[in-house]
Amino acid sequence: MITAHDIEQGLRNRQFLLHYQPKVSLITGQIVGAEALVRWSKDGTLIAPSAFIPLAERSSQIKAVTTQIFYRLARDLVLLNHNNELTVSFNVTAQDFEDPVLTKRILASIAHSQMPPAALEVEITETQALHADDECIQNVLLLCNAGVGLAMDDYGTGYSSIDTLSRWPFSTIKIDQGIVSRMLGSEKSATIVRSAIRLGHELKINVVAEGVETPEEYQFLLESGCKTVQGYLVSRPLPPEQFVTFLQTRTRCPGVPVGLIHMAIVDHMQWRRQLASYAIRRANLPPDAPLRQTDGYPPLSCRECSLGRWYFGPGQLFADRPGFAALDAPHCAMHDVGHALVRQIQSGASLSEIQSLLDDLKLWSMQLVSHLEVLEDVGLAELYRLH
Ligand code: C2E
Ligand code: MG
Ligand code: MG
Repeated sequence: MITAHDIEQGLRNRQFLLHYQPKVSLITGQIVGAEALVRWSKDGTLIAPSAFIPLAERSSQIKAVTTQIFYRLARDLVLLNHNNELTVSFNVTAQDFEDPVLTKRILASIAHSQMPPAALEVEITETQALHADDECIQNVLLLCNAGVGLAMDDYGTGYSSIDTLSRWPFSTIKIDQGIVSRMLGSEKSATIVRSAIRLGHELKINVVAEGVETPEEYQFLLESGCKTVQGYLVSRPLPPEQFVTFLQTRTRCPGVPVGLIHMAIVDHMQWRRQLASYAIRRANLPPDAPLRQTDGYPPLSCRECSLGRWYFGPGQLFADRPGFAALDAPHCAMHDVGHALVRQIQSGASLSEIQSLLDDLKLWSMQLVSHLEVLEDVGLAELYRLH
């Protein structure tokens, strides 16, 4: 039975250390980060956080534990992230931010080491975020404003995750490992995972799936458009030296990020809907209505819409696949129609006058989606050949 006195001794003897669990990008297959997880090295055995973190929280020793492990983290980072290629996250509680000590320490450490602030990320659970008072929120905001990442841990286990997401500047959602472990056996959990991935995509924040243990789970997440995974399938949490060896010797994790194509299809459908809705609503107004001159249409440049950003960005991964080059012509044609529609609306055209443009929009869009679906099938065939 661990007591507060034991924790006190552990602190005095500096027995708290960190293990690091790699995070893999499903887009590139590379290790892109790690989560630092505390371990207590007590009398020759390693004690897991569940055995002492809840007690440390109750006895208000958590701040001392976090401070001690943050010193460890800063030292370990020199070894395992010397070229700042990884984003390393660590876990915090609301109590850690009830005064500005930790925030100041993190900011000083960043300034001292010259590491980019985005190389660090703090993970907080939604339940912890709900306990946060104003002072805590201010301290977390100071970190976020400095560029440090903020991850919502165990997403899907709280009861007001969406509300918390909308009020805190999270840059990452971590889907809880319980939901991940159920997603292949339960359609409900699968839906929650897919919608969390879509939510992250729409909010333009990263989504990490935790607790990935099997190739089947990995594949499901690839297919669903998840961008990062963490779990025993890739590696257990490792001591810093072993983590460095792992980085040097690992083989690239396999995968075709076919889920990104699905995201691109949905993005495109939303773009078309927004444009059609804008045009139809305004075409019903009198020709001289001031509302006709206002925005409300999606990006008209074919490089700025979400499909265009995908096509010229991560979509380039598929550049050598059959069908990719065929996307360009219908996509550009659709944007030409978009420009024409906006011009017509602004010059007072009625619904019947823009009908042929709306029909063209639909035709080009169907062509585009059909090319994207061909590309998706090619990706799926490759994905399942790989495994
Ligand atoms: P967490 O932050 O959600 O961390 C993920 C936990 O899942 C870790 O357990 C990790 O070892 C475990 N895990 C990772 N991949 C898999 C997998 O594929 N399958 C299974 N079954 N488990 C996996 P760990 O290290 O025992 O940490 C448990 C919890 O303790 C953490 O959950 C976090 O809430 C807390 N914790 C860990 N380190 C710290 C810390 O430094 N400070 C604070 N305040 N809490 C911490
Ligand atoms: Mg965590
Ligand atoms: Mg978690």
